[in-house]
Amino acid sequence: MAQADIALIGLAVMGQNLIMNMNDHGFVVCAYNRTVSKVHDFLKNEAKGSKVVGAESLEDMVSKLKKPRRIILLVKAGQAVDDFIDKLVPLLEAGDIIIDGGNSEYRDTTRRCKSLKEKGLLFVGSGVSGGEEGARYGPSLMPGGHKEAWPHIKDIFQSIAAKVGTGEPCCDWVGDEGAGHFVKMVHNGIEYGDMQLICEAYHLMKDVLGMDHDEMAQAFDAWNKTELDSFLIEITANILKYKDTDGKPLLPKIRDSAGQKGTGKWTAISALEYGTPVTLIGEAVFARCLSSLKDERVEASRSLSGPQGVKFSGNKAAFLEDIRKALYASKIISYAQGFMLLRQAAKEFGWSLNYGAIALMWRGGCIIRSVFLGKIKEAFDRDADLQNLLLDNFFSTAVQDCQESWRRTVSVGVQHGIPMPCFTTALSFYDGYRHGMLPANLLQAQRDYFGAHTYELLSNPGHFIHTNWTGHG
Ligand code: NAP
Repeated sequence: MAQADIALIGLAVMGQNLIMNMNDHGFVVCAYNRTVSKVHDFLKNEAKGSKVVGAESLEDMVSKLKKPRRIILLVKAGQAVDDFIDKLVPLLEAGDIIIDGGNSEYRDTTRRCKSLKEKGLLFVGSGVSGGEEGARYGPSLMPGGHKEAWPHIKDIFQSIAAKVGTGEPCCDWVGDEGAGHFVKMVHNGIEYGDMQLICEAYHLMKDVLGMDHDEMAQAFDAWNKTELDSFLIEITANILKYKDTDGKPLLPKIRDSAGQKGTGKWTAISALEYGTPVTLIGEAVFARCLSSLKDERVEASRSLSGPQGVKFSGNKAAFLEDIRKALYASKIISYAQGFMLLRQAAKEFGWSLNYGAIALMWRGGCIIRSVFLGKIKEAFDRDADLQNLLLDNFFSTAVQDCQESWRRTVSVGVQHGIPMPCFTTALSFYDGYRHGMLPANLLQAQRDYFGAHTYELLSNPGHFIHTNWTGHG
């Protein structure tokens, strides 16, 4: 008998938690998994006593669904998604909806949208963020694809999503094709940037100010009561406080070599592809790459020297505040760059993106959740067509207030030989963006000199000329 409101395929950590979340909100979920024994285990354990029903096969699952059928895939991104779609297509009817909640590449989602439309089926590619905890108690959800599907899934999605403020859900329709997965990808890239910025602040506190772990924890706790109030600052304070079984901080014992799954890299690649200077996320990805060269760095540290005998002699409390402001200003740049990329992708693909709604989707439920995202939402509420976050009065004033501290932080860090790829690239971007005149005039002349690529005169834009640079003069 058709009794289930929705089906979910994929009973790994994300799928199980999302099912229990939907169950808590009154939806009857039909659970299925490639390895069917996991369905039995799930019903006997985590889902015991719930309204969740299981399916023995895809046919069984489809027969248990109310129409239009709604099926969420939460399986390993890539081939597994295509395999399940291929198996589902013959079992479904026009108007049924397949939702891919995995970390799929946005181009795959666009391809799947096109192919399923031809078959009369609706497809949604939804970013799901917040990990296991988010899936269970309220993720950030970023659905995109066939908009005709949205009225049929909106209630479920907005019920299970994280809530902020007066109960606003961190979920709204993002846009056509792979827009939902594109936004999720940029979200992950921003997460890379936020994490690296915090790491740079930690490095400065530790190696320039010589703060111990308890002092650093206190600083991050205090910062969490400022504009920087966010999940990542909060957990950083907790990590710094954490003591190993010997009573000593655990953090310095952890190998300084970071891994990555690829979504930060995808964001950087997209930035290059669409010609958008998302420098901070790019540097954050490269910082992880450099960190992973642990053995090589240890070897290099024996022969390569940095500044000798530099000791911090200023006011420690004042410099700590400088670091906080540098972090805040750099974070503003990172989000400004992220939204620049979204804008460019929207132009490229003809998506109509609601930037304020995207900021609200990230405001809660996910790793980058922060009070700051509420400010971004407000900026887009003031001006939905805002060209760049830096041009909003709130953010331009904030950067202005931080500017002296930011420059001091970068210059003290450089003098001490501390690597700060994200602090420095953020400042360079800011200085580049605010310059009406950059040295690219020389670059154009060089290109024309060696390759006859031509150039425009400031006084006559759009008119390209060539000079024979070795001819006279
Ligand atoms: P996962 O480890 O990525 O995938 C495991 C699930 O995929 C299992 O149900 C597995 O079935 C199925 N699967 C794997 N290969 C398959 C194949 N070739 N054919 C059919 N099914 C296959 O699970 P997860 O960590 O819960 O993540 C699910 C999705 O959410 C992924 O796309 C992931 O990137 C995304 N995501 C994860 C997180 C997180 O924090 N984990 C956060 C956000 C998004 P069997 O049991 O039969 O092997």
